[in-house]
Amino acid sequence: MNDIILLKQGEIVLKGLNRRNFEQKLIGNVIRRLREFGNFKVYALQSTVYVEPQDDKCDMDGAFEALQTVFGVIAITRAAACEKDPDAIAAKAIEYLAEDMAAARSFKVESKRSDKRFPMTSIELSQHVGGLLSEAFPDTEVDVRSPELTVHVEVRDLAAYVHSTPLPGAGGMPVGSNGRAVTLLSGGIDSPVSSYMIAKRGVHLIPVHFFSFPYTSEAAKEKVLTLADKLTAYCGKLMVEIVPFTHIQEEIRDKCPEEYFTIIMRRFMMRIAERIANDNGCDAIVTGENLGQVASQTMSAMAATEAVTQLPVLRPLIGFDKAEIVSLARKIDTFETSILPYEDCCTVFTPRHPKLRPSIAECEEIEQALDVEGLIEEAVKNIERVRLA
Ligand code: ATP
Ligand code: MG
Repeated sequence: MNDIILLKQGEIVLKGLNRRNFEQKLIGNVIRRLREFGNFKVYALQSTVYVEPQDDKCDMDGAFEALQTVFGVIAITRAAACEKDPDAIAAKAIEYLAEDMAAARSFKVESKRSDKRFPMTSIELSQHVGGLLSEAFPDTEVDVRSPELTVHVEVRDLAAYVHSTPLPGAGGMPVGSNGRAVTLLSGGIDSPVSSYMIAKRGVHLIPVHFFSFPYTSEAAKEKVLTLADKLTAYCGKLMVEIVPFTHIQEEIRDKCPEEYFTIIMRRFMMRIAERIANDNGCDAIVTGENLGQVASQTMSAMAATEAVTQLPVLRPLIGFDKAEIVSLARKIDTFETSILPYEDCCTVFTPRHPKLRPSIAECEEIEQALDVEGLIEEAVKNIERVRLA
């Protein structure tokens, strides 16, 4: 008899008619995430997803860890299996939860029966198991109102299960349940975090990276791919689009006033992002911009940047402090990679005095000197695609 993993569904349960669709996405994402850990049966019942190993070769530790980054889950726990017999259940609880029971000052037992042929009611079963736990751990008091520890018992078709308080899950909504978006991924600290945040809302992402070889090196590109690879733990499979950006940047350098380099470059990024979005059924562009962080992130700079696209530009980090972004970057394990010292195309040809309040009209005027459409066409034609996960 095998232990199982239980995933408590998050906001998904609020979604009324869409609920089945959300649930199916979540189950699909869970199955995909479990592939490398063995053969599991995955199904949903009453707002809970059950993950049952089908043989002893399953890597339960690996599976449990991997499932902690699946969006759409608010709580996750491992549960120990035993025979569907009241004494066997109590014995399992005493053995499996010994550490938790010894550490808690008070506890209660909560039982659920999906097997209605079981000879006790849920309340009788809770009292029975609670009584035996009390005898085994005399220092831990019963407290049904606000116990430190809740011992959960579930009697299901194949077996009974016991578990203690679940860990928090990744939260959010299942990836793929809320549309698709392009996310602009640099090698910095911010954009992996903004990508994570939008994926968390159930959005399937297409990462786009602008690459200015030889001004930015192969190593810088590898760094971005490492970041994207880390994001797959949350985002699922990703197809990264690497856009050659050198010619565009050189044209800007040669033909535009220096103080406008950055803003014109960012307008190109948006136009190309929109093209990729349209080609891939995406409905938004995500960036890691943050109000006031640098010259290109003032309100007027953002207005000048987004003026070239019809799509909504999502900036989930807009009101965050750097320390808040860093703490999220650590949590999703991208921080250490992000701080590796490789250059980004934004730091190539950086103006000494960037325009802080560029107007849209000025940008349009300056762009007259460039073959905007031709440059975009050339970049898009030469995109390199890398599939991850
Ligand atoms: P990050 O830490 O994400 O690099 P940043 O604070 O360095 O952000 P900028 O360099 O001004 O800010 O970039 C703002 C946003 O523009 C980034 O968060 C990212 O979404 C996008 N971006 C910047 N450079 C690139 C690039 N080379 N490829 C793709 N997107 C980029
Ligand atoms: Mg950057």
